[in-house]
Amino acid sequence: MPEGEDMSRPIVQKFGGTSMGTDQALTAVAGIIRNVDGGNVAVVSATSGTTDMLIRLGKEAVSDGDFEATFAELVQKHEKIVANLHINPDMSGFWEEMRKILQGINMLGELSPNVLDRLQSFGERISATILADYLKADGIEALMVDAFNLVKTDNNFGAGNVDFDVTYKKTRETLLPLIEKGIVPVVTGFIGQAENGQYITLGRGGSDYSGAIVAGALGASELQIWTDVDGILNTDPRLVPEAKVLPQVSFNEAGELAYFGAKVLHPKTIKPAIEKNIPVRILNTFNVAAPGTLITNEEIESIKSVTYKKNISVINICSLGMLNAHGFLAKIFDAFARHKVVADVVSTSEVSVSVTVDTVVSQPLIEELRSFATVKVYGDMAIICLVGEGIRAKSGILGQLFSAVNEHNVSMVSQGASKRNITFLVNGEEAPDVVVKVFNTFFK
Ligand code: ADP
Ligand code: ASP
Ligand code: MG
Repeated sequence: MPEGEDMSRPIVQKFGGTSMGTDQALTAVAGIIRNVDGGNVAVVSATSGTTDMLIRLGKEAVSDGDFEATFAELVQKHEKIVANLHINPDMSGFWEEMRKILQGINMLGELSPNVLDRLQSFGERISATILADYLKADGIEALMVDAFNLVKTDNNFGAGNVDFDVTYKKTRETLLPLIEKGIVPVVTGFIGQAENGQYITLGRGGSDYSGAIVAGALGASELQIWTDVDGILNTDPRLVPEAKVLPQVSFNEAGELAYFGAKVLHPKTIKPAIEKNIPVRILNTFNVAAPGTLITNEEIESIKSVTYKKNISVINICSLGMLNAHGFLAKIFDAFARHKVVADVVSTSEVSVSVTVDTVVSQPLIEELRSFATVKVYGDMAIICLVGEGIRAKSGILGQLFSAVNEHNVSMVSQGASKRNITFLVNGEEAPDVVVKVFNTFFK
C-alpha cells in the first residue's frame, strides 16, 4: 500500500450475482480486488440464479418433498465453479445443514418466512466462502465474514429493517482490525440476523443495500457496485438495446431511478451512502476499462432516464361525502401504515383518492378501507417514470411526453414534489411499448 494511504477509509466493493456466477467471473473479481491500493472490503451476492433456486427448493420441499433434483443441481453448480478454480473450500457443512432444513420443511409441511430466509442465506454464505478461498489461493489475504454477525434487524422476515446503531458498531469492530492487518473481508450481502437470533434477508436484490451499509459503517471513501453492465443506462437495455450509460447522476436521481424500476440498483441502497456522502460508482466486472456511472450529491440539470415498474396495483378509494372532510386522508394513510403497506404514487380528485402499491394487495387493508369508503382495486398496471434534475428547469416537457404516448390510456399523472420526476400509469402489457416511445422522444 502506498505510504499515507488512509486505511480507515477503505473502498467497499460489492459484487453482484453475475460477477460471482462463474469461474471466469470470479477470476475477474479477484483481479479487481487485487487492484485496490488501500484497504478494501468485498460484499458479495449469491451466484446468479441461486437465490431463486433456494426459494424453489423450499417450495418443492413443502409441496411434494421432491427437492433432490434441484438440490443436486445447486451442489453441482458450485462444485463445478470450485473445481474450475482449482480450489477446495469445505462446503460439506452447508450442504448437510441445507438438507436437514429441507427435510424439516417437508416433515412439517410448512415453509415459514423465517425458514425461507434461513434457506436463502446459504446462497451468500457459499459464494463468500468460495471467493475468500479463491483470493487466498491467489495470494490475497482474505477472510469470509458472515453478515449474520454484523447486520442486526427486526423480525420482519423477507425484508429486515436494519438497526443502524448496532450494525455500524459491530461492522466497525469486526472489519476495521482485519483491514488494518491487510486482510480483505469478504462479507455476505443480502443477509443479517433478526432480533430472534435467526438468519434474515434484506429483500431481493439486497446485496447492494448490504454494500451501502458496510460503506456507511466504515465511512468508506467509495462504494463500488460491480455488475454486468457499464453503468446506469438511460433506460432498461432489454427494451431499448441502444440505451446509453449515464456518466453521472445525483443521489436523488439515483434514488428515483432505483425506486421506479431501474433494476441495476436496489431502492434502499443509496440511503446509507447519501447520509455519509459516500460516492457510489456502478462498474462492469466484464469491462473494467469502462468508466461506469458516478453517483454523488452534485445535481446536473438534464433529463436522465425513463424507467418502469411492473406488477403495480391501484387502489381507488372513493367516499362522496367525506373527501373534503378533514381527517379523511389521514384516516386512509393511517390504515396503510397500520397494515405496513407502502404507497408509491398518490393522486386525488374531487371524489376519490388513488394509491399505487406493489403486487399483492393486502386484503385486511382493503377491508378496513371498505368500512368507510367505496374501494376498487385494479391489478397489472405499470408505473412509467421520467427522471432528471432537468425536468424542473425545462418547460413543455409534459406536452412532449403526452403527445409521445397519446395512443395509450394514461392515468395518475403526477410530478414529484421534487420536480425531479414525472410518473404515470399504463396497463402492464403496454409498458414496454410506452417506454420505447418515451425513450425515442427524449433520448434518441
Ligand atoms: P447484479 O446481479 O450485479 O446485482 P442486477 O441484475 O441486479 O445485477 O442488475 C443489473 C441489471 O439491471 C442489468 O444487467 C440490466 O439488465 C438491468 N437494468 C435495468 N434497468 C437498468 C438501467 N436503467 N441501467 C442499467 N441496468 C439496468
Ligand atoms: N442474492 C440476492 C437476490 O438474488 C441478493 C442480491 O443478489 O442482491 O435477491
Ligand atoms: Mg442486484
